[in-house]
Amino acid sequence: MSGIYIHIPFCKQACFYCDFHFSTSMAKRVEMVAALQQELKLRKDEFKNELVETIYFGGGTPSVLKSEEINNLIYSVYEHYRVSDNPEITLEANPDDLSKSRINEMSQSKINRLSIGIQSFFEDDLKLMNRAHSAIEAEESLIMATSQFDNISIDLIYGIPGATDAQWLQNIKKALSFNIPHISSYALTVEPNTALAHMVEKGKIANVDDEAAERQFNMLVDELEEKEFVHYEISNFGKEGYFSKNNTAYWQGKKYIGIGPSAHSYDGKERGWNIKNNIKYIKSIQANKLPIEIEILTTADRYNEYIMTGLRTIWGVSIVKITKEFGEKYSDYLIQQSAKSRSQNLLIIENNTIKVTKKGKFLADGLAADLFMV
Ligand code: SF4
Repeated sequence: MSGIYIHIPFCKQACFYCDFHFSTSMAKRVEMVAALQQELKLRKDEFKNELVETIYFGGGTPSVLKSEEINNLIYSVYEHYRVSDNPEITLEANPDDLSKSRINEMSQSKINRLSIGIQSFFEDDLKLMNRAHSAIEAEESLIMATSQFDNISIDLIYGIPGATDAQWLQNIKKALSFNIPHISSYALTVEPNTALAHMVEKGKIANVDDEAAERQFNMLVDELEEKEFVHYEISNFGKEGYFSKNNTAYWQGKKYIGIGPSAHSYDGKERGWNIKNNIKYIKSIQANKLPIEIEILTTADRYNEYIMTGLRTIWGVSIVKITKEFGEKYSDYLIQQSAKSRSQNLLIIENNTIKVTKKGKFLADGLAADLFMV
């Protein structure tokens, strides 16, 4: 199984917390779409023997492109790659782009999964984060999207300064009222060099309260598990049959090609990342030169990667797989390094697999770091 990720590096406005690659100028939209199509063509041999099972439009904000442009990109994938009969094709969309006519156009295309950036149903939260949509647009987009699409995911952010636990609970309940089968939820993080970081430094916005974030994370886990969502990755909850195939493949170390500026690629041995600059990206592709840097992963890199992603998922980290792929030195190290967290009931070994316990879930990334081979 393998996937294609296509990065659309445009947004209507910059959310204060965001450190993804995007531009708020759409001046190069046409050239960008042409360059993305050309990169798909230039890299087709990398997937000569692969069957593409997922296509994912991320960003940025893919829904700022016209339906015709998205369809042309999908067409280019089909033109140059072998695609499975029923691939998962996801488009990330923001509520302010989801008019009724737009959703109709999407439902008539090959897109079969929408990932909608709701983040919050409260106007104050949306303003604090400088989201482009309003609370009303958040609700309206879901009413319209659920009438045409069955496979929908929404993003929600917890730990927003000033948002109480009661508001967060209302956000969760509101999300559940739309009967969507998948929710991704992340803690608001103050990334360096973002507008949010500057505002926190200047005291204009209170810093993120880690204890509140942990409380709200636990509320989310309890509420969603009660409604039969499976907490299959630390930030992802899905009903049976609705787990993200794209992300699951990524967490399970499958191959993927990342198209577009700043997009990452992985083939099991090497990791590549495209240049993070729209103009330079377009110029390079126009000259038929891939603007990619490649790093060959060492055994320790691959082990660390597996620990990092595996520990965040319900599938955990298989000790048998570690022994088979990396050798006994690594599995012995893993067992020995995890002893302290296991004694604290943060990690557990079950059927030769190391997993985080309920108590350890919120700390998964830190627990993984303790198991890294350095
Ligand atoms: S819409 Fe998404 S990618 Fe664009 S600025 Fe906001 S968070 Fe970042």
